[in-house]
Amino acid sequence: MDLRFTPEEQAFREEVRAFIRENLPKDIRERMYLGDKASKEDIVTWQRILNKKGWATYSWPKEYGGPGWTPIQKMIFLEENLLAPAPELSGFNITMIGPVLIQFGTEAQKKKFLPRAANLDDWWCQGFSEPGAGSDLASLKTSAKREGDHYVINGSKIWTSTAHLADWVFLLVRTNPNARKRQEGISFILVDMKTPGVTVRPIISIDGAHHLNETFYDDVRVPVENLVYVENKGWDVAKFLLGNERTGIARIGKSKERLRFAVEHARDMRAGGKPLIEDPAFRQRVAQLEVDVKALEITQNRVVSAAAKQQDGKPDPLSSALKIKGSELQQLTTELAMDVGGPLSMPFWHKNGETLSNEPELGPDWASEATAAYLFLRAASIYGGSNEIQKNILTKAVLGL
Ligand SMILES: Cc1cc2nc3c(=O)[nH]c(=O)nc-3n(C[C@H](O)[C@H](O)[C@H](O)COP(=O)(O)OP(=O)(O)OC[C@H]3O[C@@H](n4cnc5c(N)ncnc54)[C@H](O)[C@@H]3O)c2cc1C
Repeated sequence: MDLRFTPEEQAFREEVRAFIRENLPKDIRERMYLGDKASKEDIVTWQRILNKKGWATYSWPKEYGGPGWTPIQKMIFLEENLLAPAPELSGFNITMIGPVLIQFGTEAQKKKFLPRAANLDDWWCQGFSEPGAGSDLASLKTSAKREGDHYVINGSKIWTSTAHLADWVFLLVRTNPNARKRQEGISFILVDMKTPGVTVRPIISIDGAHHLNETFYDDVRVPVENLVYVENKGWDVAKFLLGNERTGIARIGKSKERLRFAVEHARDMRAGGKPLIEDPAFRQRVAQLEVDVKALEITQNRVVSAAAKQQDGKPDPLSSALKIKGSELQQLTTELAMDVGGPLSMPFWHKNGETLSNEPELGPDWASEATAAYLFLRAASIYGGSNEIQKNILTKAVLGL
């Protein structure tokens, strides 16, 4: 198999790179380069620029406004976006709810939600996990009972990323508690976050930031037209959505960008009286990571090329290998970036101009931001399906054990 990019693919990469260079606002790029998490405003601004160009909906079919790219082009686009570094598009809007509505939604749902999702006029979040239902998602308990033209929802969800910023949530709820199999009693439903009875409570993560939430649903009345697909068939929708969630899961562009960042700053930092970049142990660590990133990139190209030929739309179980190795490399490259700062990387957090640390700030912003990224990305081996679960998938579907 020839894994080299064709001249057309290389030209496409140049086109994407040039567009991003010319159109990504400088202040956003600088914040992203320092390692800051993109704010809601940054993500909305960038997604709207890409949407105007017709690229935000990179994974949607052409008839719904997608650019009609091949899987390789999509991969190149995602990588260049991360390398820039630019904010990532809203995965909830673009790779989750958009494709779900295209596949399963009614015409009215498509008309109402798709253009707004593409343009981030609505910010979506994902309400799947519950305190007792994470890896074993089918054990979820949040209930929805039909009362006339409404479902009445009761229960709670956890780890709902960005729910505090969201306009809408797509929820998995139990509509039939007596189903023969747990998976057969679940439905997929769209809820306006402003509906009375929805409460969002923050969870502050180890990086000192507010990404995560608990969300509570107390007698939340949702019109039946917000049900997606068929009552009690929500598991089919969830499986489809989780398959799409793995698109670009290796996030190789991010690991490359962090490596580049670490090397750049290692020229200015000193170790043993010399620039850190000249330290043999440091150089060996960088070399090993570069080799690992390259190996993952080749594996990803192999998986994506095979998927492009297969065309049956089913997620390749090998994408689980990309998830495992990709998340490990994100963790190792952010650790490298943090280590470059040495003692200057002591965490130092601000929020809305207020200092959340009781230690004086030691070093430049990039160093403490590198630590925040390192800390947050411990979660990369948990979200999107934990690495242990990915290993279970690999042993069954790939090794046939
Ligand atoms: C940063 C972050 C963001 C998230 N965002 C969202 C979100 O927006 N929306 C949402 O719905 N959810 C979200 N999640 C939840 C995420 O999907 C779950 O955390 C994940 O599925 C694991 O579930 P759990 O936390 O309940 O752990 P558990 O399922 O209880 O697992 C605990 C440990 O046991 C291991 N384990 C479990 N079952 C097995 C098994 N069969 N074999 C081997 N090992 C096993 C797991 O790998 C893990 O190490 C987020 C999580 C994180 C950390």
